[in-house]
Amino acid sequence: MLALKKSAIAAAAIAAAFVLLMGAGLSAVSVSRAAPAAPFKVVLDAGHGGVDPGVRGVSTDVKESDLNLDIVRRLARYFEGAGFAVVLTRENEGGLYGTATGGYKKRDMQARKEIIEAAAPHAVISVHLNSFPADRSRRGGQVFFKAGDAAGQALAAAVQERFNALGGTALQPLRGDYYMLNCTEYPSVIAECGFLSNAEDERLLCTEEYREQVAYAVFCGALAYFC
Ligand SMILES: [Zn+2]
Repeated sequence: MLALKKSAIAAAAIAAAFVLLMGAGLSAVSVSRAAPAAPFKVVLDAGHGGVDPGVRGVSTDVKESDLNLDIVRRLARYFEGAGFAVVLTRENEGGLYGTATGGYKKRDMQARKEIIEAAAPHAVISVHLNSFPADRSRRGGQVFFKAGDAAGQALAAAVQERFNALGGTALQPLRGDYYMLNCTEYPSVIAECGFLSNAEDERLLCTEEYREQVAYAVFCGALAYFC
């Protein structure tokens, strides 16, 4: 709890620094009253959606897609509060595929890629939940990056550190060969925010308090990477 409070203070200080910096910029260019440009832009990608629920909780059958969206909404609030420009790939429960006819998954993934390319962000954070029924003791947040993406690896390491602090785990960020990492050249990570195959992770992820802590952990990791 103490660590969390320290983190909160640090994040608040950084957010305040952003505001001060932007305020200084405005007074120096007194002719413009337009809102200052955000220093960084992030794309937040809530995995799955619509007919694709992702993995399901072992006890509650909760859908990964719904929890991903909730975590992304919380994460967006943190980033926006710190002055980041935020682009969401998915803003509601639906998928991005149009109608759920054949090939919908491919259309859904293509749409996410197009949103990222249009945004040209400083980083992409794709939010998912894990499942590993072969070993239900596995739990905690796990972050993936693309081999050769040094910026993505640094972001993944920073977020992983926060996940480990939150969950009492000692996991390393892992290389992953996934579409959301490979589809563009922007620094990208997949944040798997826990295991729905683990009863304790599922119980925690079904509470608003824990989803808020997960979002805050991802945000603090990202701030450590950006600042
Ligand atoms: Zn997923």
